Amino acid sequence: MTFLENLRAFQEGRLMYSVEEVGPNINVLHTEVIPGQEGCDFCSVSWDKGWIYETDFDDGWWACLECSELIENDDEEGLFVRSVEDAERRFGRMDAEAIPLVTAMVTTQQRKFLRGKTGVRVRDDNV
Ligand SMILES: [Zn+2]
Repeated sequence: MTFLENLRAFQEGRLMYSVEEVGPNINVLHTEVIPGQEGCDFCSVSWDKGWIYETDFDDGWWACLECSELIENDDEEGLFVRSVEDAERRFGRMDAEAIPLVTAMVTTQQRKFLRGKTGVRVRDDNV
């Protein structure tokens, strides 16, 4: 299987999708993690100890200790690299089709988070 096939199979087992009609011909796609499948919203390396960040656009994001340190240090590039390296470990090496798609997806999501996070992080350990 290619990187994108592996990624889609993973998302199908982990994410729920719903469509909200917000106006005539305007639909918003919502994604939610299936209960029991939660983990770091940036990587899946550590799922036990971390932090919650409130955002102004959804229910908040959960970050493991390592990702949270990158966020606190405004290391956007480090956060991107960590997410992509983790994805390649799980789904295989990205090919020419996957690289632009994954780069755009990760960059868009992480920028949305970094612009929308509010207040300070709150410790939340799942152990
Ligand atoms: Zn993480």
